[in-house]
Amino acid sequence: MSQGILVPWAMLEIGKEVIKKTKAELILIHGPKGELPTLKELIEGVRNADVLIPRGTQAVPREVIMANPNLRGIANYGVGYDSIDVSSATQLGIPVTNTPGVLTETTADLAWALLMATARKIPQAHNYALSGQWRGPGGKVFMGQDIGPGGSNRAKVLGIIGFGRIGQAVMRRSKGFKMKVITYDPFMKEKIEQTKGVEYRELDGLLKKSDFITLHCPLTKETHHLIGGKELEMMKPTAILINTSRGPVVDERALVSALKSGKIAGAGLDVYEREPHLSPGLTRLDNVVLLPHIGSLTKDTREQMAVVAAKNAIAMLRRKRPPNIVNPEVFESPSYLRKLRTY
Ligand code: NAD
Repeated sequence: MSQGILVPWAMLEIGKEVIKKTKAELILIHGPKGELPTLKELIEGVRNADVLIPRGTQAVPREVIMANPNLRGIANYGVGYDSIDVSSATQLGIPVTNTPGVLTETTADLAWALLMATARKIPQAHNYALSGQWRGPGGKVFMGQDIGPGGSNRAKVLGIIGFGRIGQAVMRRSKGFKMKVITYDPFMKEKIEQTKGVEYRELDGLLKKSDFITLHCPLTKETHHLIGGKELEMMKPTAILINTSRGPVVDERALVSALKSGKIAGAGLDVYEREPHLSPGLTRLDNVVLLPHIGSLTKDTREQMAVVAAKNAIAMLRRKRPPNIVNPEVFESPSYLRKLRTY
């Protein structure tokens, strides 16, 4: 009997090629333009598959996982896996993987681009130049903020929340701008203490001191609304918040209100609480730069992500330990061991 890998989205050819080289069947259930299947179609698809490769933030709730307790694995195409009910998967003995590393530099580039675009109001100025309203001196003023030392020669403070792969890559970019870097990550204290050019701060201290705050933690129960009204209140009125992590890490309603009232100076966002919907008011602000979740979206990186996801999927199909497991405890679970015995 052939074994099937379900891909419910338009995977790049290079990823499909990796699967086609094996004897596994590639099951594609997306629409002609790459439209994702409905929940019902996804459930139906999972019933007839051995491994699922969901697309990044594509929701894989308990009901999808329950549709096939014999699923051999879920290989997410993305590093964040908050869209997957990992605890249900673990309970059923289903390994889950992600694609860490290959998208680190690309996402850090995007975070840095957002920081610069927001600080220097680049999209606003670009739109003005295109509009034909620019008549030289006396026109609209796009007063920006320095990222580097500027005329005053004051080093600006960059606050990084989440000092993992992407947070560290952002820190490396800040070096060319002679910034002072402070970071909050309760799980990386030791690493931070050993890293040259970065100091540890508790969250409140970081919020109060930073000129720029950039978020790079995963979305978990603990990080949901990590930045809310109280935290925004602690920031400098000149502070700029950058979010390329996950939308619900920020209370978007509180953010809109802080941006409207001038409690903080600006925000650059790639991710939102209820994607693809933006909070009312967000699109009417002129101190934001908004992107449609494009953090890792370059051809080179997306190809590598497809290859990594495909390799993880094949390993799980063969009941081998996949390279990028996110729930390693599954391998010790009675439900997984039972499946191994019947394999
Ligand atoms: P990582 O696991 O290497 O780093 C995450 C860091 O966050 C870890 O060091 C962890 O200790 C820290 N952390 C966990 N809980 C925290 C908390 N309560 N407070 C502060 N720090 C906490 O992951 P990564 O590869 O750097 O990716 C980070 C996140 O970026 C992903 O989980 C994903 O959601 C997001 N991401 C978004 C895009 C995009 O397209 N916008 C692209 C890639 C990744």
